Amino acid sequence: MNQYKEIIEKIKNADTILIGASNGLSITEGLHLFADNQAFQDVFGDLKTKYGLRNILDGFFYNWKSDEEKWGFTSRLIEHYSGSYMPSQVMQNLRKLVGDKPYFVVTSNGEGHFEQSGFDANKVYEVEGNWIEMQCSRKCHTRTYPVMEAIHKMAEKEQGGIVPTECIPHCPKCGATMELYNAQPPKEEIVQNWNQFLQEYHGKNMVILELGIGWRNQLIKAPLMKLTAQEENATYITINLGEIYITDNIKEKSFGLDGYLDTILNQLAENLCN
Ligand SMILES: [Zn+2]
Repeated sequence: MNQYKEIIEKIKNADTILIGASNGLSITEGLHLFADNQAFQDVFGDLKTKYGLRNILDGFFYNWKSDEEKWGFTSRLIEHYSGSYMPSQVMQNLRKLVGDKPYFVVTSNGEGHFEQSGFDANKVYEVEGNWIEMQCSRKCHTRTYPVMEAIHKMAEKEQGGIVPTECIPHCPKCGATMELYNAQPPKEEIVQNWNQFLQEYHGKNMVILELGIGWRNQLIKAPLMKLTAQEENATYITINLGEIYITDNIKEKSFGLDGYLDTILNQLAENLCN
């Protein structure tokens, strides 16, 4: 039996699928946070010149002098990558692989593409927050609010990296400027859902599908490998380009697929009905 068939068998027999994802998945979808590539030039060429930004991450951590500039960059970014997002082939294949099985997603990606691809937001734990929700920057309360409507309006009015003052979203309770949801603190409901998931599927056939996470990643990869070791009936599948790392103690119940995520997920999805 080839490796793909073996993996498909594991997925078919799984009681649940736990997806872990990091920036390799975003890159596959065309969103590269730390590349000074053509896409960055195309979207942010003028701001590169104006502020010396080298990549998207730079923009996130830039010491913006005003909220108008901060939201100028932010709204252009989010509008471009999430404003009219249609599920990519990768996401469609992931949906296919999960099928109607129970699932959970743990990701450090914040672009909201899981939710925008039909994954239930209550089952997507975004450990570093996301950019499709906002919260009070003064943290006067912890509720999060959808941000896309404000993004559309700001992006429409944005010129030269600056949005009009009156378009900037404010906290409905204290009036402070809003900021993107940064999981500080994480949402209580999602942490609860995650713990409940771990309890509910303890001892069951759990397939852990890890997508595009660097080998040294401590935030998601290390905990997922630890979980695999603890869970007797877990199977660990890691897909990454050029960096396959599986600890010795879980080698027997693991698969490492080295290559492009989109190609590999395509092949897995094709093998589903064989
Ligand atoms: Zn507030």
